[in-house]
Amino acid sequence: MIPYGRQLIDKDDIDAVISVLKSNFLTQGPMVPKFEDVVSSHVGAKYSVAVNNATSALHIACLALELGPGDWLWTVPNTFVASANCALYCGAKVDFVDIDDRTYNMCSKTLEKKLKNAQELGKLPKIVIPVHFSGQSCDMQRIHELSNIYGFKIIEDASHAIGGKYQNQWVGNCRYSDITIFSFHPVKIVTTGEGGMALTNNKVLSNRMLKYRSHGITSDKSEMQSRPKNEIWNYQQIQLGFNYRMTDIQAALGVSQMNHLNAFITRRNEIATRYDRLLNDLPIGLPWQHQDSYSSYHLYPIRLDLSVIEKTQQQVYEALHRMKIMVNLHYIPVYLQPYYERMGFNSGYCPIAEQYYKETLSIPMYPSMTNKQQDYVINNLRRVIGS
Ligand SMILES: *Cc1c(COP(=O)(O)O)cnc(C)c1O
Repeated sequence: MIPYGRQLIDKDDIDAVISVLKSNFLTQGPMVPKFEDVVSSHVGAKYSVAVNNATSALHIACLALELGPGDWLWTVPNTFVASANCALYCGAKVDFVDIDDRTYNMCSKTLEKKLKNAQELGKLPKIVIPVHFSGQSCDMQRIHELSNIYGFKIIEDASHAIGGKYQNQWVGNCRYSDITIFSFHPVKIVTTGEGGMALTNNKVLSNRMLKYRSHGITSDKSEMQSRPKNEIWNYQQIQLGFNYRMTDIQAALGVSQMNHLNAFITRRNEIATRYDRLLNDLPIGLPWQHQDSYSSYHLYPIRLDLSVIEKTQQQVYEALHRMKIMVNLHYIPVYLQPYYERMGFNSGYCPIAEQYYKETLSIPMYPSMTNKQQDYVINNLRRVIGS
């Protein structure tokens, strides 16, 4: 079986986990801060907060930016549901900005039009979440300019994009955003099993996220309420938070995986270049790359030209699955999910994302894929879509 994505774990990774299992701390030990340092210093952000998954990172990022009832959060439909659900966790409302037809990322022109319109209606968003789809950065410079004009905050959902670059700088440095989040799910670029991280250059936001991660508890004396001197108050809960902590077992795996990050991205780019070359004559659209971007290639989405291919998207999907090539679909537009439809969204709302979803498939892309496996994918894709 050839999956669309999978983790690559080596002996160093396994040894790193075993050494934590033999140590004094399985959680709340030294590995979590170490992992935070490794990631933030790699990408060039000042502060980082490791959590149990990226969904939690999105949630506490929204809370730190004070998203609440009555507020709007905008994201794209072409993403995993978590990028939108974080608004609903905070009691806020969510809306969707259509994607660009070439990058499949949030279209900054559509965003601008929608902002102008929202300003007239008095419904400007408090937070916008661009998603770096497949590992290619969004048009962050323009989105950042718009945030200065219209006064919204930016959370980059970089779940696909650790190790990628934008304008020659690492994604995650928050140059054009308030907070960036990463996912360490096994299909993503580097893994901790489950895991996520929120990065920022803003100390206030970082402190807020640290408290939300762990029950709203502080052990910082300067934040504590005064209590009688003869009582023991080594911690205080000063707000309502969660238990979103990452374990030291996971963080040790993360530290070790970060040693492989550059090699993983290089290999993913090699695989992409090879697909680009060997699929070039087929009736499919290959992932277009903006010159500002160096993609981490979490995904390699192909776009079927259904006017030429004598099969439906579903037939191609099923034929490849029969050959044990587990292509996948990224993404069903979030607002077409039944839960979102019940909130009043209808098909036709973001036509570019919908058209894209009807034509796309993500073909296998992961660093341990061999050239031989890639050839198997290419040859069978050729057979299925004909050429
Ligand atoms: C995977 C993913 C998430 C959620 O990540 P988890 O770590 O599984 O919670 C959020 N947004 C996007 C775009 C993702 O791909």
